[in-house]
Order: sequence, then structure tokens, then C-alpha cells
Amino acid sequence: MIYLNGDFMPIEEARIPVLDRGFIFGDGVYEVIPVYSRRPFRLAEHLRRLQHSLDGIRITNPHTDAEWDDLLARLIAGNEGDDQYLYLHITRGVAKRDHAFPKGVAPTVFIMSNPLLTPPKELLASGVAAITASDNRWLRCDIKAISLLPNVLLRQMAVDVGAVETVLLRDGFMTEGAASNIFVMKDGILLAPPKNHLMLPGITYDVVLELAAAHDIPCEVREISEYEVRTAQELLLTSSTKEIMPITRLDGKPVGDGSPGRMFAQLYQLYQNYKVTVMRGNTTDS
Ligand code: PMP
Repeated sequence: MIYLNGDFMPIEEARIPVLDRGFIFGDGVYEVIPVYSRRPFRLAEHLRRLQHSLDGIRITNPHTDAEWDDLLARLIAGNEGDDQYLYLHITRGVAKRDHAFPKGVAPTVFIMSNPLLTPPKELLASGVAAITASDNRWLRCDIKAISLLPNVLLRQMAVDVGAVETVLLRDGFMTEGAASNIFVMKDGILLAPPKNHLMLPGITYDVVLELAAAHDIPCEVREISEYEVRTAQELLLTSSTKEIMPITRLDGKPVGDGSPGRMFAQLYQLYQNYKVTVMRGNTTDS
């Protein structure tokens, strides 16, 4: 069951006009929210980032947080599986093709839910391969825009050589992955790039930094050079659907000793414990 512009229906029945500006211009934003045990994880943070994305492209938020909460709850209830991920998609609506914003047009709102399949244990045990590429995206990567052509092409470069992610480098520094944030472990210190217009402010990124701070894991948020990426003891990728994964090969060379390291093991466990605590409602998942 999906939601489209006020109605709930099976996905096969959902239709949008070809003049939707999402289709014509990629003029819209989106969010991906994991759901564990039928409860959305970090909902307030995801809705705050959605607001930031909408503000960034000047679309008025079509719903209050309470309305989003209600719509998402109904979608979770209407779909199978305790663990799901919600995909929210908002475009500038349907109008005669013209670059300038149309006047008086309501945004298109689409929400779907899919089963959340977190990475299998075998993959976490072996780690995954990644490649590097030059970050050729625009300069507002903090907006979660639906126009993802550069990300699609960059991710495909990895897939073409049997890797799972592309680590992006801009002007000698690492920004993020094609669809994830990247952490570096060097000399026992967890390094994270600073949030700015060159990367998406990941919700999982925030959770990892909070867990590191709460458990006295040495951590620095600062620019990370290409050299530091290439000489890292560990590389980790994070996202709402992949959670935390170890990158054990970069551009065909082993990262550290080529197997998942201690920093990964510790953060992965902390993340799983944190999820359980939040799901039990023992902490406010603000
Ligand atoms: N950066 C990019 C470009 C992404 O697409 C994603 C996730 N889709 C992330 C980072 C990770 O963000 P989050 O942890 O909120 O899923």
C-alpha cells in the first residue's frame, strides 16, 4: 500500500501525470526513514532534514510533523513486516513545462514502504569493496534532491567493477559516498568529515558520532585528505538502510589488513544495542 496525494492504494494503481516536475526536471526532494519493529527510527531528525531540503528548493512543506507522523503510521500499519523503510518523495507538482516555478500548484506527495533488509552477516564479516572517484556533483549536496543522476553514475562505476560503493573526493578531500557517509579510522581515531554543503547530513552519521562520544571513542570531525583515506586502518560506510558496513578494499587494495577492524566491530555492536533500546522505548528517540 502506498500513499499518493491524499489517497492510499496498491502501488500498481498509483499514477502521476507526465508533466509532473519530478518527472520533467527532477524538481523535488526525498527522505528515507528506517522502521524497526514498526517504529520509525529518528523520525524527528528525518522530518527536520526533509524541512531543510524543502527550504533549500523553496517548496512549502505540504504537511505538519503531526500529519507526517499520522501518514507514516498508517503506511507502516498497511504494509507487511516489522522492519521496513519509508520513502517520502515531494515534487513541485504538475504544470506546463517551464523552468520557472509554477504559481498556485500543489506539490505531489508520494510515500511508499519496502521491507528493510539490512546487510547480511556474511557481508559484515568480509567487508565490501569500494572505489574512489572525483565528486562531480553540484554544490548543494546537503539537499536530499531527487535529481540523483551524478550519484547514479558514480554508484554504477563501483558496480561495474564488482564494488558496492564509490568514495567521493573533491579538491583532495573526501566528501561522502555515492549513497552513504564515510568514516575513516586512523591511528585509533575515528575521523568524520564536517557537515557542510558538500555532503548529505546523514542521520546514521549523527548516531555514530553520538555513540562514539557516549562511549569515549576518540573522534575528530574535520576535513579528511585523500592521503588519509588511502592510508586508513579502517573505512566505514553508513546509511539508514545499510546501517554501518566495513569497507575492506579500496580501488582493489586492502584497507588496513583487509578485514573488518575493531572500530567497526565496536560501533556496529553499539548501533545494534542502541536500536534495541530505542525500539523498547527506554530512551527518547528525539
Ligand atoms: N549521503 C548520501 C549521498 C546518501 O544518499 C545517503 C543515504 N541515502 C547518506 C549520505 C546517508 O544518510 P542517512 O544516514 O540519513 O541514510
